[in-house]
Amino acid sequence: MRNSRHFPRACILESRVVQDTTPSLVEREPFLTFKRQIIKLTQAKMEEEAETFAFQAEIAQLMSLIINTFYSNKEIFLRELISNSSDALDKIRYESLTDPSRLDSGKDLYIKITPDKANNTLTIMDTGIGMTKADLVNNLGTIAKSGTKAFMEALQAGADISMIGQFGVGFYSAYLIADRVEVITKNNDDEQYLWESSAGGSFTVRSDNSEMPGRGTKIILHIKEDQTEYLDEKRIKDVVKKHSQFIGYPIRLLVEKEREKEISDDEEEDEKKEDNNEEEKPKIEDVEDDEEEKDKGKKKKKIKEKYTEDEELNKTKPLWTRNPDDISQAEYGEFYKSLSNDWEDHLAVKHFSVEGQLEFRALLFVPKRAPFDMFESKKKRNNIKLYVRRVFIMDNCEELIPEFLGFVKGVVDSEDLPLNISREMLQQSKILKVIRKNLVKKCLELFDDIAEDKDNYKKFYEQFAKNLKLGIHEDSTNRKKLAEFLRYHTSSSGDEMSSLKEYVSRMKENQKDIYYITGESRDSVENSAFVERVKKRGFEVLYMIDPIDEYATQQLKEYDGKKLVCVTKEGLELPEDEDEKKKFEEQKAQFEELCKVMKDALDKKVEKVVVSNRLVSSPCCIVTSQYGWSANMERIMKAQALRDTSTMGYMAAKKHLEINPEHSIMKTLKARVEADKNDKSVKDLVLLLFETSLLSSGFSLEDPQTHSNRIHRMVKLGLGIDEEDEVVADAAAPEEMPKLEDEDDDASKMEEVD
Ligand code: ADP
Ligand code: MG
Repeated sequence: MRNSRHFPRACILESRVVQDTTPSLVEREPFLTFKRQIIKLTQAKMEEEAETFAFQAEIAQLMSLIINTFYSNKEIFLRELISNSSDALDKIRYESLTDPSRLDSGKDLYIKITPDKANNTLTIMDTGIGMTKADLVNNLGTIAKSGTKAFMEALQAGADISMIGQFGVGFYSAYLIADRVEVITKNNDDEQYLWESSAGGSFTVRSDNSEMPGRGTKIILHIKEDQTEYLDEKRIKDVVKKHSQFIGYPIRLLVEKEREKEISDDEEEDEKKEDNNEEEKPKIEDVEDDEEEKDKGKKKKKIKEKYTEDEELNKTKPLWTRNPDDISQAEYGEFYKSLSNDWEDHLAVKHFSVEGQLEFRALLFVPKRAPFDMFESKKKRNNIKLYVRRVFIMDNCEELIPEFLGFVKGVVDSEDLPLNISREMLQQSKILKVIRKNLVKKCLELFDDIAEDKDNYKKFYEQFAKNLKLGIHEDSTNRKKLAEFLRYHTSSSGDEMSSLKEYVSRMKENQKDIYYITGESRDSVENSAFVERVKKRGFEVLYMIDPIDEYATQQLKEYDGKKLVCVTKEGLELPEDEDEKKKFEEQKAQFEELCKVMKDALDKKVEKVVVSNRLVSSPCCIVTSQYGWSANMERIMKAQALRDTSTMGYMAAKKHLEINPEHSIMKTLKARVEADKNDKSVKDLVLLLFETSLLSSGFSLEDPQTHSNRIHRMVKLGLGIDEEDEVVADAAAPEEMPKLEDEDDDASKMEEVD
């Protein structure tokens, strides 16, 4: 049976022609033998031409995982294959918008499921875009996808196999129920090919000429012995209803039916003689005598006839065209899942229509989770599907929704756009701009809905806070509104997170600004010297520990008329009374000389050294200038910009050293300087203090070795080890051993810092 597929169709046709026109069998015979040989040869050649490919390593691993893992919810394979068919149909429809001739190879866009119990196969066929040979090799096995590994890791972490579609490797779920899979496919731009694999690390691709529609893909699943339930009509119908009822193309199932037919005796004879193997030919099952007919003398009989026909399984109207009042949450859930490949329901949904100068309907969903690769790749996301008057136009229409809302899934159905719209036209379309504005507005309303339930909002915020912050950075029009959605831990919020609104409601009477600190983790900001004083004075500090907070606050600048002030930057002014101000001025004057000596010691390492009023228990800290990078930003940029160190030098945070005039270290240092301006130990101590505050202020050290050396010297001092003695002992060595170049360098560096 299988081999017949490899008979070159042209040869068979030609041999028939020869039979019809050649006069006698005797003359014909040698030629036919020749023909047969050619057919055999061609067949052999085609077998030969089957190319074998190795699956990309991770894909092979994934396949054996799918085959060997005990997993009962295998039915999802059908959802995945139907979803691939639907995607392929979308693609050819989209191509045909600008070039209608792409549909010359077939205008009927549908999916067909054919169970074949005799051969133990289930076939899923579509008249979608099909694949070229290169597509087959690339898409089904050789090109690595980031989702493959991510999916296996997720599985290890307890994820469910049904999540496979989210990771972009849904095709391989076929191996949940099949031990061999054949993919026959025909794309407009290439010949027909057959892909085949029984897993085990490799697949083959060869030319093919079996019966196919002019274009599309046929997936033939050779069902595993214990999975034959998927050949049952009822089971297939249930699975399609459960997972794929909202697919936008007809899903037709080949079903077997029975009907009664009256025939006379002679007709019956004919029926029996005929070859009744073919479809649609009645099979005689049961013959009954009909009393009445007998009386009349005309012998008529009723027979039961089996026949097959296509039954459409998804006749439901597009969900968004229905009245929201008539739609159950479960229906929205099913629709969302078929739209998004998600395995669980959405978190929230908004179903609305806009009328007036412009008309469209839309359904927007917020998922429960962010996709695994949300900010990882530049991969275009499958978010909003665009329809024009119920006809699908395209997936992932970028013009419809800004990047920061890329996680929102849904459909938009416009009444105004032309059907033959292309991507180029979309970019110019005023209609689309208006739709986009509306969608953003509705998304924000949807987030407001979510915020009404605190627990739900918490889930939402955990997943999508980054998107909201990206929105604040990018969307100046909605920045204010988006700021309402921010939540932060603060110096007084405990385990709860606080909105800016709540923060403002707690502000002290004399407090003008909103204080915040950025940093790497909650622990590090909580214990930071910068927060000390602000907290001690009774003000609340927002803890911003997401790298993107740095970007968001740069744009946000204020909330509700109150400036956002970073406590690690210069010029932090806390509201003070007159006495305090006076005292501070005095301290500034007293410490002026120490500041100068320290600046000289530190040289270019800092822009200036000043007296601080923000410290309580630390001797000093590093602050950054108001418009430069914060320590946290420098950390983020260092991590990102490793390749380009030239911009680092230019952009790096401008550092100011602030000293605490109340601190005993500073007081003693001041006394030391006043006693002897040229005290050699002062420079070393200043550098040590500087490096230590770099660390505690969240910077990293340029040269940790020098810092360690300095610490070691201090430790020796503490232990009473005589530095001079050791230097003498070391100095004896170089006489015998030539110095290494590095040592020379090191030595000069040490001199420089000392
Ligand atoms: P995804 O659908 O997320 O891309 P899959 O593993 O389900 O991942 O499918 C892999 C790729 O194989 C698809 O992106 C598509 O290019 C190709 N493919 C699968 N099924 C079909 C089909 N029925 N028609 C055309 N191409 C298909
Ligand atoms: Mg898929």
